[in-house]
Amino acid sequence: MLQADSFEHLIECPLIASPTLQHHEYQAQGIPFHVWVQGECDPDWPRLLQDFTAFSEEQLSLFGGFPVADYHFINQILPYSHYHGVEHTNSTVITLGPAQLLMTEVLYKELLGVSCHELFHTWNIKSIRPAELLPYDYTQEQYFRTCYIAEGITTYYGEYLLARSGVRTAEQYFQELNTVLRKHYEDDGRFNLSLADASVDLWLDGYKNGVPDRKVSVYYKGALVALLLDLALRQLSKHQRSLDNVLRRLWLEFGKPGVGYTEDDYIRLVEEVAGRPMRQYFDSFIYGTASLEEPLTKALHFVGCTLLQEENVSAAEGVFGFKTILKNERTEVTNILPHSPAAAALTVDDEIIAVNGQRVQMNLQVLLSTGAPSYELSVFRQSRLLTLTLAADPTRRFWPKVTIAKRADATPEQQISFKQWLKQDF
Ligand SMILES: [Zn+2]
Repeated sequence: MLQADSFEHLIECPLIASPTLQHHEYQAQGIPFHVWVQGECDPDWPRLLQDFTAFSEEQLSLFGGFPVADYHFINQILPYSHYHGVEHTNSTVITLGPAQLLMTEVLYKELLGVSCHELFHTWNIKSIRPAELLPYDYTQEQYFRTCYIAEGITTYYGEYLLARSGVRTAEQYFQELNTVLRKHYEDDGRFNLSLADASVDLWLDGYKNGVPDRKVSVYYKGALVALLLDLALRQLSKHQRSLDNVLRRLWLEFGKPGVGYTEDDYIRLVEEVAGRPMRQYFDSFIYGTASLEEPLTKALHFVGCTLLQEENVSAAEGVFGFKTILKNERTEVTNILPHSPAAAALTVDDEIIAVNGQRVQMNLQVLLSTGAPSYELSVFRQSRLLTLTLAADPTRRFWPKVTIAKRADATPEQQISFKQWLKQDF
């Protein structure tokens, strides 16, 4: 018989009952971890258990304790393309697909990424909780300003710890970081809303974009400022201390005793670990909208890496500031950067049918790359045919490609520093 102690206990215990459920167990630091898989797939169990054990051990070592007695990864592997994960007290429900691709590099890396992320939440949000969410009031919205801790830090560690535990190479980790950078830099909301304010707005639109280009992502920018802080703490202490220390103290002082933390508690812990005031970090990157390129570039130098900025080679994106997708051979506008040439002419969902009288057929980039100062576009907007002028601004380029890379001239000290950060050779 299954009996719940409370409503919260009930909804925190998701389950799957199925005659085709697959199950394996592994131990990490004496704690039993269960991996449940439902779906038409054939997991490579030895590889999966080895990888899961590695990142679980790394997380347990980081915190030096686990909030619960056991843990369950409950995977619903779907026949169609899907990605989602939700954390619970001692479990996570992960939905991923398509099932037949589970063990391909593309989908298996998603399984590892989301699993490592959700396990980290066992501490960071299920146990280490913002004061506003403790106790949790299920009758109304619970606004809080620190989701850059709950989700940003978890997003950072979810990928970083896979590299640190040797599950991923540094190159694979950098590819994931580049995805985070791309998502951060393609959204103009980074100039508009601070992380703390975006956290409050989570209740308005959850995972969706909400008002386009007005909100910054607590996941992506949150992960980048966590990286920045980790490297800053490491640089200040010559790797004697890091963001790990902040998390360990959050666990010992708040998670373990069941006390909610406030924004000020977090600032105090960061400053104590840093051994100096960190007001500028918080004012610029948590409560402000200062750009991350320069500080991140400098911070990455400490570990022999750098941030590269390249021009966007797509004419639509780089010269005019809009993105399109192809739907059944139709070219439709999906994103428009505010204040760009495209913003003066186009609207999201416009179907571009011709450029200078030439039909658009999977060749938009070619048609917009003649170097002309302006182009005449024929578009269908809400089924009405319009002719528009798209004029380039020769002084501006948009959506640069920002990526992380190792520096060719990294010094031996920087290479050692890299290894202290990632536990991998440079
Ligand atoms: Zn999360």
